[in-house]
Amino acid sequence: MSSLPNFHFQFDNAFVRELPPDAEVRNYRRQVLGACYSKVLPTRVSAPQLVAYADEVAQLLDFSPDFCRSGLFTEVFAGNQLLEGMEPYASNYGGHQFGHWAGQLGDGRAINLGDVINRQGQRWALQLKGAGPTPYSRNADGLAVLRSSVREFLCSEAMHHLGVPTTRALSVILTGETVIRDMFYNGNPQAEPGAVVCRVGPSFTRFGHFQLLAARDEMGLLKKLVDYTLQIDFPHLGPPSRETYAQWFDEVCIRTAKLLVEWQRVGFVHGVMNTDNMSILGLTIDYGPYGWLENFDPDWTPNTTDAQEHRYAYGKQPSIAYWNLGQLANALFPLLRREEPLHEAMAHFVSHFEQGWNAMMAQKLGLQESDALAVVELIQELLKLLVLVETDMTIFYRRLADFDQDTDLNDQTWRELVLPAYYVPDQLSADYWSRLEQWFRRYQSLLQTSATPQSARKASMNTVNPKYVLRNYLAQLAIDKAEKQDFSMVQELLQVLRQPYAEQPEYERYAEKRPEWARHRAGCSMLSCSS
Ligand code: AMP
Ligand code: MG
Repeated sequence: MSSLPNFHFQFDNAFVRELPPDAEVRNYRRQVLGACYSKVLPTRVSAPQLVAYADEVAQLLDFSPDFCRSGLFTEVFAGNQLLEGMEPYASNYGGHQFGHWAGQLGDGRAINLGDVINRQGQRWALQLKGAGPTPYSRNADGLAVLRSSVREFLCSEAMHHLGVPTTRALSVILTGETVIRDMFYNGNPQAEPGAVVCRVGPSFTRFGHFQLLAARDEMGLLKKLVDYTLQIDFPHLGPPSRETYAQWFDEVCIRTAKLLVEWQRVGFVHGVMNTDNMSILGLTIDYGPYGWLENFDPDWTPNTTDAQEHRYAYGKQPSIAYWNLGQLANALFPLLRREEPLHEAMAHFVSHFEQGWNAMMAQKLGLQESDALAVVELIQELLKLLVLVETDMTIFYRRLADFDQDTDLNDQTWRELVLPAYYVPDQLSADYWSRLEQWFRRYQSLLQTSATPQSARKASMNTVNPKYVLRNYLAQLAIDKAEKQDFSMVQELLQVLRQPYAEQPEYERYAEKRPEWARHRAGCSMLSCSS
């Protein structure tokens, strides 16, 4: 591999520089002891083809449109070329998968290229996903298919524009090669188009990075990695000490609480909240079989691998995050040697999540006083109503902003307002309507006692209740087209999802509820880890 001189970017590969490498440089699957990463090159691909790139992410990296449209860009972000300054590596981590310790996992199909330092001095780590095997690939191929790559690309950007902390995605590129996947692990392997996504984030450090070192009793290395993380990702906490370790874990807990409030706000279900998929920075990371709530159902998970247990269902996400933080606390205990600060930080997760969630829910309803008993009761009753009949979460909240707080509830306009949110008209019994009417009466009286004018309430609600989310079936339609070499819908969705809170009348069709055909279609209502 050669590096080309035409485009120059400043790289600062701190992870490679500061942390110990694997002494073995040959690329074969193995347990990697006493090292945070292994040097490994992406595998060459035969015919890379750009599907889409995200202009905003390119701008973060000071990449010009000329560069992004160049052949070189496609070669680099498919893994065929290195830019000067790139030092590819795969990192070493472990994790709890579905509640069980899984030992070494690592970047089995992710290859880090290095960290760009942009003109503002920000650090942005670049990581290819699907660029071939690494020492951490275990029994898998290190590759990714187009469908999961498009899903990661679009969802990363959609989440960012929704205001949810997330890693970003620069590009999605077809490799020109096929990848064999048995999508539902039921003996139907198929050749699918392969692709590579370039993800971008301040860092890709996961809870599992620390867990693996603690599990192996590699205490010197654990301390090194924690000190490194403090220096690079949490520099405001100051030099490493047992006090800063405690403050750091506290901040991780609070960031994670904020992340979970945001997921619950927009109806995002991660699908695989294993501890190796938890970012130390509180970012959404590793988009696999994620999904968006269509009808509000706390027990829903898109992940067929979790179909029995529903461990990672929407409603369980906050408690799973707490459990995951507990695993991280266990890993950090040998450094702190005191339980108390760890318990306190975990308690902060709970209090920040609860307060944040109450405030978020109140804002979704356009109410200010989230602690008032009447507001809390109103929210609880709404959550019960939303599951009584299949109710599209996104449409329901969005339309609530148009509720006229001075309307005479006897005139039924409130019914017309929410009607488009329901999936099954037959479920709308007289009992249901009367209970919903009671709810609207309580809601109306709370709105009337607040001093907020209706227009301000609507504007505020529309900043937290998106009009556009990456509905599962929309992503699948874009994938169906992309698999036939038509990338227009990927690009169009990227465009719509740039402004998820804006009315975009030309894209109204992307705000519609899931059509009936998508109810049971693979990729629309259920996904597997196979990607
Ligand atoms: P995930 O469920 O995607 O978070 O992946 C769990 C672990 O499996 C991580 O270590 C991944 O790097 C690894 N992995 C997932 N898919 C592949 C693949 N196709 N090839 C190699 N490693 C993989
Ligand atoms: Mg993962």
